[in-house]
Amino acid sequence: MKDIIVQKFGGTSVADTDKIKNVARAVIREKNLGNDVVVVVSAMGHTTDILTKLAKEISPNPSSREMDMLLSTGEGVSIALLAMALQEQGCDAVSMNAMQVGIITEKVHSKARILEIKTEKIRTHLDNGEVVVIAGFQGVTDDFEITTLGRGGSDTSAVALAGALGAKRCDIYTDVDGVYTTDPRIVPCASKLEKISYEEMMELASGGANVLHPRAVETAMFAKTPVRVRSTFNTENLGTLIVGVEEMELHKPVTGVASDLSKLRVVVCDVKDNPGTAAVLFDSLAKENISVDMIIQSYARKNLNTNDIAFTIEKSDLERTRQILEYVKPELGYSNIYVDDKIAKISIIGAGMIGRPGIAAKMFRTLANRGINIKMISTSEIKISCLVDEVYAADAVEALHTMFGLDSDEIADVKGDLPDV
Ligand code: ASP
Ligand code: MG
Repeated sequence: MKDIIVQKFGGTSVADTDKIKNVARAVIREKNLGNDVVVVVSAMGHTTDILTKLAKEISPNPSSREMDMLLSTGEGVSIALLAMALQEQGCDAVSMNAMQVGIITEKVHSKARILEIKTEKIRTHLDNGEVVVIAGFQGVTDDFEITTLGRGGSDTSAVALAGALGAKRCDIYTDVDGVYTTDPRIVPCASKLEKISYEEMMELASGGANVLHPRAVETAMFAKTPVRVRSTFNTENLGTLIVGVEEMELHKPVTGVASDLSKLRVVVCDVKDNPGTAAVLFDSLAKENISVDMIIQSYARKNLNTNDIAFTIEKSDLERTRQILEYVKPELGYSNIYVDDKIAKISIIGAGMIGRPGIAAKMFRTLANRGINIKMISTSEIKISCLVDEVYAADAVEALHTMFGLDSDEIADVKGDLPDV
């Protein structure tokens, strides 16, 4: 039996018909290596944004079912065009949407999770020698409603298909050469990583690096599917391989530095210091689907029996958070709320920091030497994050990148005209 390779091409890679023909050549190259090939594509260029804008012109708050009906059409265009391009270049190919394949998701519009992927039809086409071109980003419920997986979701479609098919590898083709130690637009001497572990990649993605959809990394880790992130426009370069941590040689404590400007901080002052207060607060946020990132509770002021709770959320969740806080005010008994929306979360990530003491201290010292104040700190086994003032974001990333020995001698070549989300 042949190995199956899943290739995924993002919006930038299929932005026009010349680029689609170029993708067809990359697909045929892979097939000529003797593999069975399944291709997942995104919508062309900015299609998803353009469709979203059309909807907003009609309604400020369109129903999520109709949004999914609308947005899923973008990928429908690219699969058909790519299958035609392949046929034109003499390669047997067939396009399939999520309904035809059977990419079954939860009954949730606009951010559905994949529950199951049926592989029989794909396998039949592969056995006929065809390349199968599948629409990313979309799914179908068991009662035939169209769903989508959330912006950037085609990565997840590709990785989930690779897992279901037992593929040898999933190649994510994009407009950058791979995964870098940090954003090369901020630090031009960022280095491209040859390999990174799923765990580190997950932390990098949630820390603001938007090379790969975080859920795609989670899905790959679960099925242990090796994922390669590589450039569509520079196929000589093998990109970055994402694998299990056991396959890594951890020479350096820190693998990458990330900055995230999408969050803001809410401080709830003089909250009653009773059992259950934090539970009430975070339960009410969770019920409204608001994810909280960093949390700090201050040392209780004994005589007053109160403390402060600070946490970070997505900027777009502020209004709903305010409403919830207003609602739970009688129970929490707080005095004031402060919102700080000019913040950046700077994280250092590395599986190599496990068992190496002093990494946090080195991070804090590096920021201090640049005169950068730390507003909040959080840690996990392989990540240390500091919240700093937004204006220092680039400065902090640069300083940490140098301090942890990640600077490369070469200047990264970043072309990418469209952000490939
Ligand atoms: N077309 C969708 C988006 O722009 C999905 C994707 O490209 O991954 O978000
Ligand atoms: Mg993408």
